[in-house]
Amino acid sequence: MKEASFYIAENNGKLRCLLCPQNCLISENKTGVCGVRENIDGKLYALTYLKPVAIHLDPIEKKPLYHFHPGEVILSVGTLGCNLDCKFCQNHSISQDFDVSSFQGLKEVSPEGILDLCKQHGYKFVAFTYNEPSVFFEYMFDVAVLCRAEGIKTVMVSNGQINEEPLLMLIDYIDAFNIDLKSFNPDFYKKICGGEIETTKQTIETIVKHNKHLEVTMLLIKGANDNKEEFEDMCKYLSSLDKNIVLHLSRAFPDYKMEFEITPIKLINSFYDKAKQYLNFVYKGNI
Ligand code: SF4
Repeated sequence: MKEASFYIAENNGKLRCLLCPQNCLISENKTGVCGVRENIDGKLYALTYLKPVAIHLDPIEKKPLYHFHPGEVILSVGTLGCNLDCKFCQNHSISQDFDVSSFQGLKEVSPEGILDLCKQHGYKFVAFTYNEPSVFFEYMFDVAVLCRAEGIKTVMVSNGQINEEPLLMLIDYIDAFNIDLKSFNPDFYKKICGGEIETTKQTIETIVKHNKHLEVTMLLIKGANDNKEEFEDMCKYLSSLDKNIVLHLSRAFPDYKMEFEITPIKLINSFYDKAKQYLNFVYKGNI
């Protein structure tokens, strides 16, 4: 573990984490919403620093990134925890249902260790993915800085729930982003995901402003985020930033706490047609 960046002390020994828009107020011996940042003796610690649960080699298209070095493989690193609680989460065993102190399978791998792996095998890309990388900010940052110095490109696969100050500290060291835009309805973010949409939009805008490669993913869930007008507003929004933003429309399969029909292909096709009216590059996923 490592002392966390981005927090302040408040009254009665409580700490305010400023890493993401949850801005948790954390009492002694408690963690924030993400479950991996704990107040220990008046200091906030990132519990999963150096603690990946997974280091896998994936095709870069699996992130998904279709317009960023297609055909390459990418070393993908993830830990535990998430700052949202999406009721349809497909990675809930590592994002929600865990206890960091007893979780089996946490490895100890330093940033230098990840770099050595890349050098040994000639890997040219590293992704921060599987769980939400914002909640392992310090680990991601240290790996990304080392990668930059060695010419290895980095990718952040994120829900975009990161406050502006940490994002600005990180952004120069990340080459490409895939950001989940789960809906264009603030109520969906609030009720289904336990978060808010504005920070994700702000993150997308900051990435565009910094000319970083950006692809956006939307998991289309029948009966939950399939309002066509809202989706059209989302496409207009993305197109107003850059018509070349790549949009991945993914079919959803029921998981975790939410029951729904597997996204019908017909629905994906009609959303695809709508998106193509506004964006140059739209792909269907999980088909
Ligand atoms: S990173 Fe975790 S502890 Fe910090 S504000 Fe977000 S959810 Fe809360």
